[in-house]
Amino acid sequence: SQPIDVIIIGAGPIGIACGLEAKKRNLNYLIIEKGPLVNSLYHYPTNMTFFSTSEKLEIDKIPFISNSPKPTKREALEYYRRIATSNNLHINLFEKVEKVEKQNNNYQITSSKSTYTCKNIIVATGFYDIPNKLNIVGEELTKVSHYYHDPHYYSGQNVAIVGASNSSVDAALEIFRKGGNVTMIVRGKEIGDRVKYWVRPDIVNRIEEGSIKAYFESELKEIRENEIDIATASGNLTLKNDFVLALTGYQPNFAFLNSMGITLSDKERKIPTYDSQNMETNQKGIYLAGVICGGLETHKWFIENSRIHAKMIMENIDTLHN
Ligand code: FAD
Repeated sequence: SQPIDVIIIGAGPIGIACGLEAKKRNLNYLIIEKGPLVNSLYHYPTNMTFFSTSEKLEIDKIPFISNSPKPTKREALEYYRRIATSNNLHINLFEKVEKVEKQNNNYQITSSKSTYTCKNIIVATGFYDIPNKLNIVGEELTKVSHYYHDPHYYSGQNVAIVGASNSSVDAALEIFRKGGNVTMIVRGKEIGDRVKYWVRPDIVNRIEEGSIKAYFESELKEIRENEIDIATASGNLTLKNDFVLALTGYQPNFAFLNSMGITLSDKERKIPTYDSQNMETNQKGIYLAGVICGGLETHKWFIENSRIHAKMIMENIDTLHN
């Protein structure tokens, strides 16, 4: 059978934007997603509110109507789902892309369910699958998680939260307000400077009044069933502990990029190689779209500044085909 013009790996907001753009240009396309639609968003904290206003999360200028200026997770799921369903986008869900191989002038893709031949590939796999590990004793215990969902679970419990970025701060405030006893363990001297400006005073004041305990310039050293050890600026401490939330960020799947022959900038930032004019990587016909482009600098790209990748890539593919 004929090779597919373009296979898009990942049905996040940017993968969906690529699908829409391919459809508009009458290209033959397929989006393959390993989880449910917008899998990363689906796994965000239940009560999460985006830091972007809704119009900045819009793709293809389709209006995103939300009740408040900044939409909630539920509203975002509603928005992207309606786009995918009402445009009848070709998306295979719960199918993981496992291998990409060059085959003459095309690529062969092997997934958990099938194989495909295509001319072009867009890697829009984001960075939410692989958490940055603490690499300490006890990290594998079931009471430790790198993802936070809901505060109720932690009510009346001693919860240690590692990190001081937006995810950690949101979790600390929510859990404190639902009756959890929260201790933050922070490597730096203060709450992260990228924390949402409207949330920062809340966390700073809760720490100052002692409602939330915070150890700065400190590190979690070991986790046990009922305790944790921390190294602080003024010595080592052992605290009673029921749960640990290690919210220390995530990273793209570099092994997958590597397996396709996509090179990285350097050890510190690991920015994948791509042409900023058309998003093509050093492998002809393989493109990058969305937040994966930042490598370890996961704060560089978000929906607002990466949604344009869809048009840039499809324009390139379109000109090559016609
Ligand atoms: P993703 O949404 O991560 O999509 C990647 C998709 O690829 C996933 O669905 C994944 O399951 C799939 N996938 C991965 N590997 C495979 C594979 N091998 N085979 C098949 N499918 C695969 N950005 C903003 O612009 N505004 C915000 O307010 C905002 N708030 C955020 C809050 C939190 C808590 C977090 C973690 C991030 C936030 N971001 C925000 C960043 C946001 O995640 C991204 O901007 C957005 O999700 C990026 O979209 P994407 O399509 O590039 O990647």
